[in-house]
Amino acid sequence: MKPETLRRPHKEYRDIMKSKAFGCIVLSAALLLTPALVQAESDITIEEIVEEVDLDAVSYGDAVWSFPVALEDMRPDFVVLANKHYKLDPDFVCEPLRTIKSMKLNKDGTRKSGDMYLATSGQKLNEICADALAALSDAARAEGHKLFMKSGYRSWQTQNTMYYNRLKRNNGKDDGWVSQPGSSDHQTGLGCDVVPRAWKDRSMNGKMGKEPECIWMAEHCHEYGFIIRYPADKEEVTEINYEPWHLRYVGVPAATYIMENGLCLEEFTYQLQEAIQAFLDAGGDPALVQEYIQTPSEE
Ligand SMILES: [Zn+2]
Repeated sequence: MKPETLRRPHKEYRDIMKSKAFGCIVLSAALLLTPALVQAESDITIEEIVEEVDLDAVSYGDAVWSFPVALEDMRPDFVVLANKHYKLDPDFVCEPLRTIKSMKLNKDGTRKSGDMYLATSGQKLNEICADALAALSDAARAEGHKLFMKSGYRSWQTQNTMYYNRLKRNNGKDDGWVSQPGSSDHQTGLGCDVVPRAWKDRSMNGKMGKEPECIWMAEHCHEYGFIIRYPADKEEVTEINYEPWHLRYVGVPAATYIMENGLCLEEFTYQLQEAIQAFLDAGGDPALVQEYIQTPSEE
């Protein structure tokens, strides 16, 4: 799945459905209202009738999208799963990327420029994700939490080098701390490592999760569209050690569903794939869901 091929067919389809629904309503409204209009002046306009139709309840043929997150509320590239079973193409990334900057303050303490309280220079993220992270950082700072963004986007090549360097240092054994090339969440441009300012130079480990900044992030990140990508209680599912610092942008509706139900992205993806299958089995339009389909990569 390459970013330039990602489309939102469901959006176009929804517009078509809207215009179709409108056409039907205009016709039936005209039939219904004609005698009334002749006999008396009616206050009801066709626009008002259209307003009252709940377009979210539109089903696609006989198939109903029953997944808790609406297709219109997700983007296929924002919910993409990257792990060692679902590897990304070497050139996959959610573009456009932009550089994350340490912030400068106005005299009144508000953010004048930049994104994070502090950021490693030159780190990049998808621009929508970057804006969401800046908003998260502002909200955290308002609660007295200073966040340091340690790393963001990482190319397939960089990950490849990191992985083999780690193997070399670890006598050829994969200890789960560095992802294989193509399986790193950082390659999406939506994954980032955010640590308490005080941990800037400390080594990363699960103990960080007890810091107030990390507790705050776990509680509030979904409000900005982020999830804790590698939760402590999901190590067996993610096959990655607990990383309280690794945030992953998926958009607010998906993040809220994931965090409020205590899921990890793998579980979300499995549920989504089941929903897609059920939708297709019921005769749903493949064009609406095809960009969300993920299949395991060849081992
Ligand atoms: Zn990370």
